[in-house]
Amino acid sequence: MKKTIFFLTLLVSMLSNAQKLETDPEISGYVKNVNKDSLKANIEKLVTFGTRHTMSSTTDKEKGIGAARNWVLSKFRNYAQNSNGRMEVYLQNENLQPDGKRITKITNLGNAVALLKGTDPNDKRIIIISGHLDSRVSDVLNAADFAPGANDDGSGVAAVIESARILSKSKFPASILFVAVSGEEQGLLGAKMLADKAKSENWKIEAVLNNDMIGNNSFDAPKNDGKPKLRVFSEGLPAFETEKSASKIRNYGLENDGAARQLARYVKEIGEKYVKNIDIKLIYRNDRFLRGGDHTPFVNQGFTAVRLTDYYENYDHQHQDIRTENNKKYGDLIEFMDFDYLRTNTAVNIAVMANLAKSTPSPENVLMDVKELSNSTKLTWEKPVAGKVKGYNILIRETDSATWTQRIFTTETSFTVPLSKDNFLFAVESVSMRGNASLPVIPKVSR
Ligand SMILES: [Zn+2]
Repeated sequence: MKKTIFFLTLLVSMLSNAQKLETDPEISGYVKNVNKDSLKANIEKLVTFGTRHTMSSTTDKEKGIGAARNWVLSKFRNYAQNSNGRMEVYLQNENLQPDGKRITKITNLGNAVALLKGTDPNDKRIIIISGHLDSRVSDVLNAADFAPGANDDGSGVAAVIESARILSKSKFPASILFVAVSGEEQGLLGAKMLADKAKSENWKIEAVLNNDMIGNNSFDAPKNDGKPKLRVFSEGLPAFETEKSASKIRNYGLENDGAARQLARYVKEIGEKYVKNIDIKLIYRNDRFLRGGDHTPFVNQGFTAVRLTDYYENYDHQHQDIRTENNKKYGDLIEFMDFDYLRTNTAVNIAVMANLAKSTPSPENVLMDVKELSNSTKLTWEKPVAGKVKGYNILIRETDSATWTQRIFTTETSFTVPLSKDNFLFAVESVSMRGNASLPVIPKVSR
């Protein structure tokens, strides 16, 4: 009886502590600033390069991928002027030899990069937003014909550029890296070049938001489909060192709680909080059938990465020669774009990146005590490696729930939740002094 009363008292106090994430007016301001016209102007410019095929000219001043990447770099340099010297702009490039597959001649592969450096030297986190600059027609080796790539992936690159425009004016403790990669259509080559560099230089990548086709939502959508939908693809079982983690995942029932899945939930929660009129769909797989994406070289290296993409794909408007057959227009043309949808999806990215960059790193050494049989769950943790926290949220959900359903705030570094660890999943996130939540951490088991 005494024990029951104890738990009831705890439960009542827990529910009274239950809270929602705070709204940060600065982030609402960024979201408001996302401009449909500048997104449209970015894509109109990208289309003027004729083709942005990875093997197209890198020396022509007006046509081809070289001119396109120089233009992206010039946009970045423009925005860097707002950053008080904190934004570094560079071309990451290397010469590729023919590979007998999708590279048939010596090719200068180049990623256009802008790094907005964080203000806290102890906060090493890097948040990445990417889109791919290269485009294609029906034949993946055709580097000459008109390949507008308006949606695939002019939309992603436009979102990267617009994010750089808006966020370059602000200071964040963590760093944000904006990148237009190349070589996606030839086998994710530019993303791999960046992921390999990150791995060899031991970057602390917090999140990769790969945006590939986020501006066309009209195809095959049924009538009365409700809010526009955006898909976030995230891997379940981690591709990196799968054998090492498999038994732990199986024993603790964590097959839905890898780092990419946590990031996907964060995108849904923060995105829908700040951006109206979007329904963010968690897709429980790394990518679509028969297709690849630039987040994959990152997850293969053990980084946390997801793909954001249109809910409805129009296959007549991707990877197609520009033509009309039986009165049907084929090709990835700007006339098929939905700029309101692109604006919304760009805003989702910006809200997520800003919230992450403003938060502190996640709490350290998060543990769940499983030493004894108990209907309550004791969690302990340590403060993050950088930044000041107001406190921590404990996140709770039932094991069959897709998203976190409850939060308990505490200023302590331990908490006993009056719920059984057998029936619930828990995580802990840091809350910055301004109220921004970090990525949540699933506790390790302590015996
Ligand atoms: Zn693409």
